[in-house]
Amino acid sequence: MKYTRDLEKVLNKTSGREKVNVLIQLSQIYEKISLSKSINYALEILDNISFVKGRVKKAEIYIMIGDLYKKHEEYEKAYPHYRNALESLKKTKNDKRKAELYNSMGVVCFMLTSYDQALEYYLFSLSIREEINDKKGIADSLNTVGNIYFQLHNYQKALEYYKRSLEIRTELKDDVAIGKSYNNIGNIYSTLKDYNRALDSYNDALKLYKKSSEHKLIASVYNNVGIIHRERNEPQKALESFKKSLKIAKKEDLTYNLANTSNEAARTYFELKKYIEAENLLRTALEGAKKLNARNVEQESYEILSELYYAKKDYRKACDYYKKYSDMKDAIYGELSGKIAEIQSRYISDQKQKEAEIYRLKNVEMAKYINDLQKANDLIRKKNNELTDAYTKLDLLARTDPLTRLSNRRDILEKIKYEAMKFERSGEKFALGISDIDNFKSFNDSYGHDCGDFVLVNLANIMRSVMRKQDCIGRWGGEEFIFLMPKTDLEGGAVIAEKLRKKIEEEVFYYRDIKLNLTMTFGITAYDSIMDIDLCINKADEALYQGKAGGKNVVIRVDEIEE
Ligand code: GH3
Ligand code: MG
Ligand code: MG
Repeated sequence: MKYTRDLEKVLNKTSGREKVNVLIQLSQIYEKISLSKSINYALEILDNISFVKGRVKKAEIYIMIGDLYKKHEEYEKAYPHYRNALESLKKTKNDKRKAELYNSMGVVCFMLTSYDQALEYYLFSLSIREEINDKKGIADSLNTVGNIYFQLHNYQKALEYYKRSLEIRTELKDDVAIGKSYNNIGNIYSTLKDYNRALDSYNDALKLYKKSSEHKLIASVYNNVGIIHRERNEPQKALESFKKSLKIAKKEDLTYNLANTSNEAARTYFELKKYIEAENLLRTALEGAKKLNARNVEQESYEILSELYYAKKDYRKACDYYKKYSDMKDAIYGELSGKIAEIQSRYISDQKQKEAEIYRLKNVEMAKYINDLQKANDLIRKKNNELTDAYTKLDLLARTDPLTRLSNRRDILEKIKYEAMKFERSGEKFALGISDIDNFKSFNDSYGHDCGDFVLVNLANIMRSVMRKQDCIGRWGGEEFIFLMPKTDLEGGAVIAEKLRKKIEEEVFYYRDIKLNLTMTFGITAYDSIMDIDLCINKADEALYQGKAGGKNVVIRVDEIEE
């Protein structure tokens, strides 16, 4: 308490943000001591609301005031603060808080018997909670929607919602909330005159409430149990239960419970023809109902008063009260069902739209997935092509002599093997030639190795241009070449070699303005089944050697070799 007094002293000396913080603290401290004082401090924050920065923080202040009024059962006063909070929260992403706020607004409207408005808020709350999968919230919303149906006498629907709520709450092991569900289910059974089931449900609720010392809720259950006894024609038991409820309501300053149970007890006394007790209780009930603007409680008081005066044969008063009762009832329920149906169907079409949207999104996602897959496939295909290209290039490299771009030894040997196979199959002959540059050693010595390379490259190009398309030239060694001539006999091979020899002999190579001439010696052979490839190449080599020995720059056929 000293701390509280210190805070109150500080309050007058502070301003701005600091003052707001002190006021919040004071309001919170007084919440459990004096609700009206707590509310006054909270209201003082509004004078300094410009110092509260940020939409969410502002909303929290309004919610705090709304909650305090709600707790004080001043629902009409709570409502505008909740509206302000909603205004601030609307533009934020705080969905959980929004859902809670809608729920509180629903409760306020419910208490003020604006059931259509209440249902609308409850359903807003429910759809947000479903969206964010807030289980506790969903259970609460299902329960509140059940409450509305109950008020509208749609008991089957109400029971369905209560049971769905109970299922979730049981899963969440929330005792007080489970108790509330039992109590609500009890109310349905009670209304449907299934009294044993109703009492069972109420007892289950009572046990859970007592465990948590929930006074207001305990008072409500005693009220409900009282109603059952009265309906069962057990007025003494009923009064006993009502008295328990009233005692708690008075002690805990529960105006609504006090007013509501006063009505129920009054009805019991009226049925017992104890009019004075009934009238006293009805006065208490009306006082509380007016204070809270609880029209359903007020309406019930008028109804009982009308019956009471009728019984007392005071028809004028009975008439007056009946008019009050009936005006109020019309105001509450007039055209309500139509509105409710409209709101309900709006909710359902909202749901359908949402489902359609989800379906659409799934399709879009699927399309995107397929597109991605296609892209991935295209990429793989491209990569494969690149890889194939790379392999082809690699293969070509592996088969090519880097200097002359002619087939290398390995490649030409493979090609010769292939031709040999063809010969075995179809007897198709082919000629082989080997050539060697004459005196290349001294050529290199005279003009340098680079010049030698230059000549090798050019020579390769000349040989390529002279040879036929089907022929193949390979670099056999340093300045030695090998020719494969398919579908060609020894004679034909010698003719081609001679053509080559002549062309090379006549060719002038220009290297850095130096005119160069070259000659080449050739050894020619033709493949037949008597020889194998090695022998065939050896024979060509032998012929070449003979050419060299005989003076170079000649073509020697294998059949010209002198032993
Ligand atoms: P011969 O007429 O008897 O063939 O005489 P030669 O000088 O050509 O003798 P040989 O064939 O034994 O000499 C080969 C020479 O060819 C040795 C080397 O200097 C040269 N040579 C071999 N490969 C290359 C090459 O890749 N580049 C260059 N510039 N010269 C090469
Ligand atoms: Mg040589
Ligand atoms: Mg040579």
